[in-house]
Amino acid sequence: MHNVIPDEKIEAARCDMAVVLRLTARFDLHEGIDNHFSYACGDGTFLLNRWGVHWSKMKRSDILRVDGNGDIVTGKGEIETTSFMIHEAFHRLCPNATAVYHTHMPYATAIACTNPGRLEPISQNALRYYGKIAYEDLYEGLANDRAEGERLAGAAGDNIIVMLKNHGVMVSGPSIGIAFNDLYFLERAAKVQILAQQSGAELAMVPHEVAARTAEQIAEIDDDKETHYQVLKEILLAEEPDTTE
Ligand SMILES: [Zn+2]
Repeated sequence: MHNVIPDEKIEAARCDMAVVLRLTARFDLHEGIDNHFSYACGDGTFLLNRWGVHWSKMKRSDILRVDGNGDIVTGKGEIETTSFMIHEAFHRLCPNATAVYHTHMPYATAIACTNPGRLEPISQNALRYYGKIAYEDLYEGLANDRAEGERLAGAAGDNIIVMLKNHGVMVSGPSIGIAFNDLYFLERAAKVQILAQQSGAELAMVPHEVAARTAEQIAEIDDDKETHYQVLKEILLAEEPDTTE
């Protein structure tokens, strides 16, 4: 179960959601007004960006609180059907997925659009995620119902990332900042892989034992995963203070 989060922290989380959505636009990981981020409030409700707002213009007030039936508890606006089906299922079925992000960010999606479509252990950034990625290799169209949302969430298991074949990615984490950090570095690792493949040269695979050990090393020292988000948040709010409105 998720811990129930007090209302004042939910308001702060609405602001952080607007910040990460704007950052996602800044780093060109977005799809304009589509795609969706959510955050579990711990009581069966969750925060979700409303549909129809460009991600570079998201404000705290554009982040809606939605219950398990799809009814809006806090805020005004429209939620997109697939966003509700996917995120409701993830929050219900994946207890560690407090923040859940769905994007079609170009380089990671490019990998998901190839066969075998794996993030290969060829760079140090890729090793961050060695053994932490689930691959859902069956694409079945839009997630317009609960069954499809549950199928995608079921594919996640304990993994923080699900690569969705022919579609995009799901990245989850214990906080808004940590999930953003992983979204960012997943795309960086994917970009390096695509560039390496484009070179036409043979990929230099890190052997399994070294890759697994390095992933553990990174996990052990990686206790400052919030810091990246916090410095980005400071820059963004100084430049775009209307994010908090
Ligand atoms: Zn999508």
